[in-house]
Amino acid sequence: MVAELIKGNEIAEAKRNAMKEEVNKLRNEGIIPGLVVIIVGNNPASLSYVRGKTKACKQVGINGKLVELSEDTSEEKLLEIITQYNHDDACHGILVQLPLPEHISETAIIEAISPEKDVDGFHPINIGRMMTGQRAFLPCTPYGIIEMVKAKDISIEGKHVVVIGRSNIVGKPVGQLFLNENATVTYCHSRTANMKEITKQADILVVAVGKMHFVGKDFIKPGAVVIDVGINRKDDGKLTGDVDFEEAEQVASYITPVPKGVGPMTITMLLQNTILSAKWSHQIEGVH
Ligand code: NAP
Repeated sequence: MVAELIKGNEIAEAKRNAMKEEVNKLRNEGIIPGLVVIIVGNNPASLSYVRGKTKACKQVGINGKLVELSEDTSEEKLLEIITQYNHDDACHGILVQLPLPEHISETAIIEAISPEKDVDGFHPINIGRMMTGQRAFLPCTPYGIIEMVKAKDISIEGKHVVVIGRSNIVGKPVGQLFLNENATVTYCHSRTANMKEITKQADILVVAVGKMHFVGKDFIKPGAVVIDVGINRKDDGKLTGDVDFEEAEQVASYITPVPKGVGPMTITMLLQNTILSAKWSHQIEGVH
């Protein structure tokens, strides 16, 4: 058996095409979804991410604005800029690219963004709303993972989902979203004992560790769905995941590739959150 690919790039493209139409309709009603992306410093990887985000906005008709600030920008100045966009009606989403320089507190910045414009879904209010099943901005990578699984009509209810990784931006929230979909969820992390015994029980295995080819075929139950969140750069410069793809595809029923898997979904869900924010701010119904 060779696993079927869950092609994130194709699912993302289809979603973006649907979003184009949705944004067109909003524009006809005089509503132009707007996203402000703020970057402090000139880390090349971060710059490339934020440019990708504003380019994607353009593709679907969202007004994407990039605010580039110098590395020595003070926390006070950044807070002032966030407050300005919190009160700007043309701005429906605010994203501050992480990591920030050491002299700026990420917690203070995340908490300064209005929860109604927190399209990254990192504000504690949105995390709390997500956990209690209320309307919330869902964090983009976990949101994208759930959407990929649904796009392939893979059933979630009653399934055992094992997540390796418990970061605040991927591991923890992705488990919570699967729980919200009525899965039974187990988390593994660096202190987990007998990890393979646990992962081999997974119907859906999500891997968000940040270690190249951490998961081989001995972690996977035959027929399981494998979602590889990892992005690692090989010596030849190419990207690869946390899962040993060649091994895993021999055992799994479905698998996400790296690249063209989870990555393209993340930006797409950021666009989705910005559109939802524009709708919600005008009391228009909009669901995930
Ligand atoms: P992170 O904050 O570094 O968290 C890594 C997690 O893996 C931690 O919870 C850690 O456990 C766990 N871990 C580390 N070594 C382990 C081991 N030997 N056994 C079991 N668990 C172990 O990373 P992250 O932000 O969640 O990102 C994970 C990966 O996803 C990275 O490769 C990142 O680049 C990628 N990523 C991709 C996207 C995308 O759009 N595709 C988005 C975000 C991140 P402890 O908590 O015990 O330390």
